[in-house]
Amino acid sequence: MRTIYADNNATTAVAPEVVQAMMPYLTEVYFNPSSMYEPAKRAGAAIRNARSQVANLLGVSDPGQVVFTSCATEANNAAILGTLKANPKRRHVITTAVEHPSVYELCKEIARDGIEVTFLPVDTEGRLSIRDFVRALRPDTAVVSVMHANNETGVVFPIEQLARLTKETDPAIVFHTDATQSAGKLPLDLDRTLRQVDLLSFSGHKLHAPKGIGALFIRKGTRCRPYLLGGHQENGRRAGTENVPFIVGFGRACELAEEFLDDENTRVLGMRNRLEKELVGRIPHLQVNGGGAPRLPNTTNVSCHYIEGEGILFELDSLGICASSGSACTSGSLEPSHVLQALKVPFTAVHGSVRFSLSRYNTDEDVDHIIAVFPQIVRNLRKVSPYWDSERNCPRPDAPRGLQPA
Ligand code: PMP
Repeated sequence: MRTIYADNNATTAVAPEVVQAMMPYLTEVYFNPSSMYEPAKRAGAAIRNARSQVANLLGVSDPGQVVFTSCATEANNAAILGTLKANPKRRHVITTAVEHPSVYELCKEIARDGIEVTFLPVDTEGRLSIRDFVRALRPDTAVVSVMHANNETGVVFPIEQLARLTKETDPAIVFHTDATQSAGKLPLDLDRTLRQVDLLSFSGHKLHAPKGIGALFIRKGTRCRPYLLGGHQENGRRAGTENVPFIVGFGRACELAEEFLDDENTRVLGMRNRLEKELVGRIPHLQVNGGGAPRLPNTTNVSCHYIEGEGILFELDSLGICASSGSACTSGSLEPSHVLQALKVPFTAVHGSVRFSLSRYNTDEDVDHIIAVFPQIVRNLRKVSPYWDSERNCPRPDAPRGLQPA
């Protein structure tokens, strides 16, 4: 059975060109880049080249502002904790109710330690209110951390505008964005349109590099103390011997991402739109979460009323289709995800959500296949759903329109 991989927001396949670029650094060029002898210089040069490739994808002319980390989780932690450490008099942080756990859980933790955190709500389409955002800025705000694009819904926040409003209010507030899902899918230009953004995190494994490598962009002059201490690497901003092969792979992946940016926003977008349109047309009582907001080109998050996302994933899996759900068991909890709860997805739908996220390796045939099997899976699961049955026979006043007694 062929595998159809439609879970690219979770991780991506490593590109063959990336593997090829990494191989010499896993075999003959194994030296510590800090060593003084001649062969080690090749490792140092490879890191410099990769730093430039990463900087290019971000639209940064000075690669010295790019710091390699082990992942985006580390970069997000380093950004927020490092800023608070550098600005001890400022004890307020602004973030949103829909951040990835590497920001959301960290912010809950620092709140327990006495930092005041504002979690900005979103509307039912997943959008932030600009008015609420400006009102939340305070003289003691140390850092604003607002993700560029949401991993579950794909909803894109207007970070250019938010960063500008932050700096107009108080240039000393540090603006951080988690661009893990947008890098390689949307154009980024930190030297120009995003020049008010001080810190930006992202990760290799979302753009066809291996897992275990990420980066934090730190704009020159930004007050942010190092988070990992104990070595001079990365200009003293991130201690630890550099992971040369992964850094090289990450650099190559960024170069490829730049080349495929048009494909992402034309072909991949077209496949996502077709998939979504067909599912909406063929399945009654299906809603697209965040469908009314600007979104990433590759992501669709749909909720099927009256059934469980886990059941759908199980059936998809048995047909070789990999997707993910924003509810219950995938996160090891029985609660729906904090993101879908923040969007106030109705009770009847929040457990029945499925996220399809495509990449340049998906084809029209993949999309055809999902369209062919998904409606039947939903019909079968509804047949055995007690919720579906009771709503059909005795609809509640807030039940989706059109649900008539059988
Ligand atoms: N932020 C976002 C928006 C993500 O989607 C992810 C990965 N799911 C992360 C951060 C964490 O990335 P990593 O796995 O590299 O730590």
